[in-house]
Amino acid sequence: MILILGGTAEARALAERLGPDAITSLAGRVKSPRLPDGPVRIGGFGGPDGLARWLAEHDVRAVVDATHPFAERISASAAAATAETGVPLVRLERPGWEPQPGWRWVESLEEAAAAVDRDRVFLTTGRQGLAAFSAGEAWFLIRCVDPPSVPLPRHHELILDRGPYTLDGELALLRAHRIELLVTKDSGGDHTRAKLDAARALGIPVVVVRRPPRPDVPTVATVDAVQAYLRGV
Ligand code: NAP
Repeated sequence: MILILGGTAEARALAERLGPDAITSLAGRVKSPRLPDGPVRIGGFGGPDGLARWLAEHDVRAVVDATHPFAERISASAAAATAETGVPLVRLERPGWEPQPGWRWVESLEEAAAAVDRDRVFLTTGRQGLAAFSAGEAWFLIRCVDPPSVPLPRHHELILDRGPYTLDGELALLRAHRIELLVTKDSGGDHTRAKLDAARALGIPVVVVRRPPRPDVPTVATVDAVQAYLRGV
């Protein structure tokens, strides 16, 4: 069996391609997740040791880490558990966004919060990252999938939505809320890139949180390349 660590559109595409030989694992963070084809398990493994045990118990022949570029702990866990058990690991990671002129890159959500220098901000850093902005005095339009459970900035409006988004829709949103700054993370991919095109079209500056460092494991960008890797192990 192949274990796909999921929670992304890429992981769903891979599950569809691999069929019943693969099981997808989700963290269980999102209330009603988009489920992939095929078998699914939900919930943490209990750190690297728990994952290593799970791999042995389920006779896993390879792991594909197709988690989000900002999901650091599960990727570290996958690297450690596969090193311990000798199960091959490949990372499926969508490329980051092509940098645009005028983007300000920061290393963390805290740095992004410190970089807010406008009054009306569109914040799309994900529900878990919102706490870093809680002391902000600007007005924030916050968009995330599920309601946040962390303290939010004093002045904000919340939109619950999961995309994918269109350029026209994002243009209308930015205009309607008179947005002056977009703060986001370098998630990459097409599902959420329309906001960047809209910001560019309207001359709105963008603060982008850089991706965290990744474990040193074989990494590919496409489902085809994962299949080629799996044929070789
Ligand atoms: P994280 O900080 O790396 O993971 C925290 C803990 O959640 C892990 O230690 C692990 O628990 C569990 N976990 C995470 N992903 C899992 C998975 N696919 N299957 C089973 N357990 C998992 O991850 P996160 O940033 O909270 O992201 C959680 C999930 O949401 C991931 O599947 C990710 O692909 C998806 N996602 C994340 C983002 C983002 O911006 N971070 C955006 C979109 C989607 P144990 O240690 O107990 O195993």
